[in-house]
Amino acid sequence: MPKCPKCGKEIDCLEYLAKEYWHAKFFVDDDGYYDYDDWDYCDTDEVIGWRCPECCETLFHSEADAIEFLWDGKPCPFIHEDGVCDIDGDKCVGERFPKCRNKYRI
Ligand SMILES: [Zn+2]
Repeated sequence: MPKCPKCGKEIDCLEYLAKEYWHAKFFVDDDGYYDYDDWDYCDTDEVIGWRCPECCETLFHSEADAIEFLWDGKPCPFIHEDGVCDIDGDKCVGERFPKCRNKYRI
């Protein structure tokens, strides 16, 4: 299990933080009371980062770095016995492991 480089604790996941917008219907009734209804949210693509669940320090700013950290140096699961990645057309299905060095081996 990987260890947090900030606090040294073993962690098996990261906390993902991203900004999102909330929207709701806002109305005032006949008695002058206001309220909100139909709450929903939408993403903004504003990613803050992936942080340690123990110390809350932001450790990574890219998904690729977060994947590599949690995968913790284990070999790419998409590499066959012949050492070649599983390829779908020109696209390596190992894209789940963006930093796999064998990605473009064929
Ligand atoms: Zn930590």
